[in-house]
Amino acid sequence: MSVNQQAHTGPPYGQPQPGYQGYQQPAYGGQPLPGVPQSQYGAYNGPMPGYQQPVPPQGYFPSLGFPSKGSPVSLNSDTSSLAPNFIGSLRAPPTSGAPPPASGASLPSGHLAYSQFGHGDVQNGIPTSAAPMQRPPASQPFLPGSAPTPVSQTSTFQQYGPPPAGVQQLSNHMAGMTIGSTTASAPPPAGLGYGPPTSVPPVSGSFSTTGSGLYTPYTASQGPPPTSVSQGLPLAQPPFPGQPISTQRLPTQVPGFAPPPSSTGIGPSSYPPTTGAPRPPTMPGPPLPGQTAAGPPASQPNHVSSPPPPATMAGPHPGPPMSGLHGPLPPTHPPQPGYQMQQNGSFGQVRGPQPNYGGAYPGTPNYGSQPGPPPPPKRLDPDSIPSPQLNELPPQQKPRHRIDPDAIPSPIQVIEDDRSNRGSEPFVTGVRGQVPPLVTTNFVVKDQGNASPRYIRCTSYNIPCTSDMAKQSQVPLAAVIKPLATLPPEETLPYLVDHGESGPVRCNRCKAYMCPFMQFIEGGRRFQCCFCSCVTEVPPHYFQHLDHTGKRVDFYDRPELSLGSYEFLATVDYCKNNKFPSPPAFIFMIDVSYNAVKSGLVRLICEELKSLIDFLPREGNMEESAIRVGFVTYNKVLHFYNVKSSLAQPQMMVVSDVADMFVPLLDGFLVNVNESRTVIASLLDQIPEMFADTRETETVFAPVIQAGLEALKAAECAGKLFIFHTSLPIAEAPGKLKNRDDKKLINTDKEKTLFQPQTSFYNNLAKDCVAQGCCVDLFLFPNQYLDVATLGVVTYQTGGSIYKYAYFQLETDQDRFLNDLRRDVQKEVGFDAVMRVRTSTGIRATDFFGAFYMSNTTDVEMAGLDCDKTITVEFKHDDKLSEDSGALLQCALLYTSCAGQRRLRIHNLSLNCCTQLADLYRNCETDTLINYLAKHAYRGVLGSPVKTVRDALINQCAQILACYRKNCASPSSAGQLILPECMKLLPVYLNCVLKSDVLQPGPEVTTDDRAYIRQLVTSMDVAETNVFFYPRLLPLTRADVDSDSLPAAIRNSEERLSKSDIYLLENGLNIFVWVGVNVQQSLIQNLFGVSSFSQISNALSTLPVLENSFSKKVRSIVDMLQVQRSRNMKLIIVKQEDKLEMLFKHFLVEDKSLSGGASYVDFLCHMHKEIRQLLS
Ligand SMILES: [Zn+2]
Repeated sequence: MSVNQQAHTGPPYGQPQPGYQGYQQPAYGGQPLPGVPQSQYGAYNGPMPGYQQPVPPQGYFPSLGFPSKGSPVSLNSDTSSLAPNFIGSLRAPPTSGAPPPASGASLPSGHLAYSQFGHGDVQNGIPTSAAPMQRPPASQPFLPGSAPTPVSQTSTFQQYGPPPAGVQQLSNHMAGMTIGSTTASAPPPAGLGYGPPTSVPPVSGSFSTTGSGLYTPYTASQGPPPTSVSQGLPLAQPPFPGQPISTQRLPTQVPGFAPPPSSTGIGPSSYPPTTGAPRPPTMPGPPLPGQTAAGPPASQPNHVSSPPPPATMAGPHPGPPMSGLHGPLPPTHPPQPGYQMQQNGSFGQVRGPQPNYGGAYPGTPNYGSQPGPPPPPKRLDPDSIPSPQLNELPPQQKPRHRIDPDAIPSPIQVIEDDRSNRGSEPFVTGVRGQVPPLVTTNFVVKDQGNASPRYIRCTSYNIPCTSDMAKQSQVPLAAVIKPLATLPPEETLPYLVDHGESGPVRCNRCKAYMCPFMQFIEGGRRFQCCFCSCVTEVPPHYFQHLDHTGKRVDFYDRPELSLGSYEFLATVDYCKNNKFPSPPAFIFMIDVSYNAVKSGLVRLICEELKSLIDFLPREGNMEESAIRVGFVTYNKVLHFYNVKSSLAQPQMMVVSDVADMFVPLLDGFLVNVNESRTVIASLLDQIPEMFADTRETETVFAPVIQAGLEALKAAECAGKLFIFHTSLPIAEAPGKLKNRDDKKLINTDKEKTLFQPQTSFYNNLAKDCVAQGCCVDLFLFPNQYLDVATLGVVTYQTGGSIYKYAYFQLETDQDRFLNDLRRDVQKEVGFDAVMRVRTSTGIRATDFFGAFYMSNTTDVEMAGLDCDKTITVEFKHDDKLSEDSGALLQCALLYTSCAGQRRLRIHNLSLNCCTQLADLYRNCETDTLINYLAKHAYRGVLGSPVKTVRDALINQCAQILACYRKNCASPSSAGQLILPECMKLLPVYLNCVLKSDVLQPGPEVTTDDRAYIRQLVTSMDVAETNVFFYPRLLPLTRADVDSDSLPAAIRNSEERLSKSDIYLLENGLNIFVWVGVNVQQSLIQNLFGVSSFSQISNALSTLPVLENSFSKKVRSIVDMLQVQRSRNMKLIIVKQEDKLEMLFKHFLVEDKSLSGGASYVDFLCHMHKEIRQLLS
């Protein structure tokens, strides 16, 4: 199998449904295909029909002593008269602060030869095109009747019969994990799941589809090198070494309930427990009585002080090939109608078809929860872990008990178990309230009526019926929604449905869109809304008869009746000003101040753009992108460029009055790439030359955004600004900033100001941008503080992306930057987007987290929304819910496609509702919970002291776990720590959030870093937050060089590292390669091309390309990881005992951190104490 193949399991589910094949899916960023019919899309060469060429603002014609306004300059005329502004003839840009160039050709900057400026637009003439804009061809409508029904899916589905028994057991979310109780209560659930790993071949593969394949790979002849090598290799990891947690028992010191300490609250004195004596990692000390029996089964032998693990640990797993990945399909099992495995541990009552839902899939009517008694929960002996009052004792005398790290819940084990249990079968979405596989599991989704977990994940798939229950549990009810998520190739993109001029069919009252949960009544003449119960007439053109089950006979022909996700073509009613939108535009805005030029950045960007503009996103059925492009350069003034195709050379126009920004040219600024290719290439060749000798160090920032905004306004279109910026904008202009960085504010009440913008100017600008659909992507290259918290405001509120390359150096950082830029330019994006989440009666969306703007309480507005952006939505009860009808979510996203087509993307999800808290806890997803909690906390730091935010997080999680202990766990010693199976990783992950740079910064973390990370996390999906907070650590020296698999991940603790091994750690932003001091010389030679440890340079930003299997293997792993992430990760080589190791250790999140963050063991003890206090 080559590294270019996809890593997904290959059951036939992924294939497009046959009947839909005529429909061309929208695709983005594709290369023009020869033979594809020419787009009917009229190239946009000028203003809209009827568009009046606006009278330029006052002062625009600066011919008479008004040198500060627009200054159009011909770039190709006689240099003797227009010297300072000639591209190509002059070296110095017209920057006011720049000293005059040595040649006498130019005037001092203060004069700038503005007197030659005539009429700004005189060279542009009148708009060349007065033809009305053509509406882009509607994508081929979904044709009812032409599609075979998905019934066949149901039958195909049957082949996935019951999994091997071991799998079933392991899927049990309530399988007990008993740690250490020797009391009579709650006997361990023998055989229930926590035995050694099953014999089922693990289908590991944590590859999310984040980076999957809609991005055009460059070919050698066409442009830049490919940004990626693969799209996710299959991971054929051996099963994780046995770690039979449930069978491990620590001795109970004091069986029974231990009274809580007298101290109350979660005050600063009691947390963090880092004042306690750190557990010596390599000197565990003598075991306590009885503890020897609890010794771990040495499942993690790669302890620092241990000898290298046996070869069998590292070698290829002798098991069968990874099913479905690159080997044979998974074994088929006898048909099993119930398909219980999909229930994933839901043990609620069996439910028949629900109102508004039932009977959708013949043969699979009883997808209700699997019956069965809840198995006993997992227990952790309270008294085998340290006593809570640690800080009352001198550190050295604290009565700490050695907690075996292998006896506490392991993220690695949970991830591996889920891969083994759920990675080999498709996730079929026909069942209400199903918990999907973890984000770290590689699986294929089959849409049968609910949105894929790639679009929506929930904190719980079974939500309490009442508000009281919800409050009691403190489990936040939230959905993490990624409306334009990229799907792996074997999954089908949402179909586009065209209901003609009347538009999509909607509920009369709540305006919910037609979906699989609407109930047709009265012979199909009306339908009852599943959200508000209102009855609406079926429009005549949409009428269809019902079959004997009450289902429309065209049920399977219509995506909006049978699928969880689909799109509607929007009518003109859904467009601004009742006018179909123009295609969007991309404007590239390049800082050409001294630092940008000197670092080589300007030249790099211009070189890259020459080829990158050929890879703009395009509609799948179009030969060329409809997106127009424009170019601006700036320092403390702005330079606009006329790149109209009829020009022999580009023309520059300077606007030096940045106080009242306007665009000095209309025609010729935004152009079609193919038409203006020659002029654009010429411009991009000339820009680096023009500014090569600049001495201007000051920049403006807000006027740059304003200029882009005004240009889009003038063109009456949405679009995206790509701003490449290097410094704090201190030049006199609107939005001017001052350096207000002050790390002394950390841990004070004023710390929050570091996260807040220093002026409200950018908030107002963001609002204007959103109104126009002007999305701002920001690439920052700072050499010092530039106030990300303020500069990022517009990016954040317009749904844009922010990238930061501190101390940018061409040699080490250019690949990372270029990969990010290529991906950013090419990725799927919708413009002028509005998202609304509707819910069935009883709950409603109350809070939203992400990069967007809201002008009311329901509509999430985004100037741009790309395939990587996620919105987390919180729900609250406003009424009772019922177990019968469950709860429904409908996310509707209205947006303009990259070709200017107005569309609605609809995602529906049905959840179960419960009257028993146990059902809630059995159907939670901790990864999603952490995504929500992190975003909630990261927003909290804007308004509260960081410590308050941390304490609130701990308190909420303690309440969640205490509620479980009190209401759901079987009777047992009250002093035991009992964790719900689905939440057993909550403490370790929560601790990672608490220790993160935003909430507890280390000394090396800058204010800009914190603001940057805060902003990034707010838009992350669940897979990204998962790896960001708990990084992936891979022993490279154990990789099987002969297979495509990754080595099995290990836990993030220093004591798991061996001095003889090389490890890779990734968190979505960085990749560290850690080299132990005792690594064999041959391995060092093979990987780094040097003969000894001391010769390894930690200045490397890439691994050398060496012709040996180990080098190839490691590089392929790095490439594979890079492709999965939405941004290129920085590669950092760390040698053991080297200075940089401190940085690396910061990411060993199970250990105590230098910044004061608790170790996992200590934090678990602390949580236990908190829970006991709540229960007392
Ligand atoms: Zn309704």
